[in-house]
Amino acid sequence: METATLPPLLPGTLYLVATPIGNLEDITLRALRVLRECDVVAAEDTRRSGQLLKHFGISRPLLSYFQFNEARRSEEIIERLRHGAKVALVTDAGSPGISDPGERVVKAAIAAGLRVESVVGPCALVGALTASGLPTDEFHFVGFLPHKSGQRRNRLTALQAVPGTLVFYESPYRIEKLLGELAEIYPAREVVLARELTKKFEEFLRGKPAELLALTAQRSLKGEFVVMVAGAEAADLPRGGMPAAVAASGV
Ligand code: SAM
Repeated sequence: METATLPPLLPGTLYLVATPIGNLEDITLRALRVLRECDVVAAEDTRRSGQLLKHFGISRPLLSYFQFNEARRSEEIIERLRHGAKVALVTDAGSPGISDPGERVVKAAIAAGLRVESVVGPCALVGALTASGLPTDEFHFVGFLPHKSGQRRNRLTALQAVPGTLVFYESPYRIEKLLGELAEIYPAREVVLARELTKKFEEFLRGKPAELLALTAQRSLKGEFVVMVAGAEAADLPRGGMPAAVAASGV
């Protein structure tokens, strides 16, 4: 393991800074230093990131960079980098570029021969998968499904052929809908819901899609979710010692 030497940030570098997905203790020392020492923080939501910086006693100029101004802002960020700026990119939570803005400016920076560094840290996908008990050696990250029912079904059906654990992000408003779809398309697969990772009410719910769907009839499932579906080939999965029922584990 490399020891913490503290070289200054490099001019003309784009730093992709992961930020907490719920628990502020998950910010890394390196993320704090990059945020403190950069010239500008490009943020998905400047108000929200401003609050995060304030919490850590950091004050830096903020530039908005979100889905609908990504193209224009990417050019502007590239110009700043060409002039030697150190730019940190953050999103509302987690790792930039993972179901969040980032990909466009990263591509543009690489095409322009500029340096891009990943300041690694929280990511709901990794937190959920590693604690799920499902196979982690091969997985397919889907992110959010389309909103329209037909498109969702087509995508879910096409994913049946994909080996490994499937990982979805889903909004709390569509979690029931997704479980219903999984009950039809993946009735025999083991599913794990990772809810409210790193937060007070974090829990993992495990079962067949129909079992989890039945659970939503008993209690409303709120908060943020990562939904994981075991690959067709997965066997011998832990169910928290509750073979035929939904196994939930809180922290
Ligand atoms: N870039 C982020 C990352 O690295 O995970 C993801 C951003 S995406 C817009 C937000 C989605 O990530 C949520 O709808 C949910 O599916 C998942 N997510 C984020 N935080 C979460 C948490 N604390 N617990 C469970 N899922 C979470």
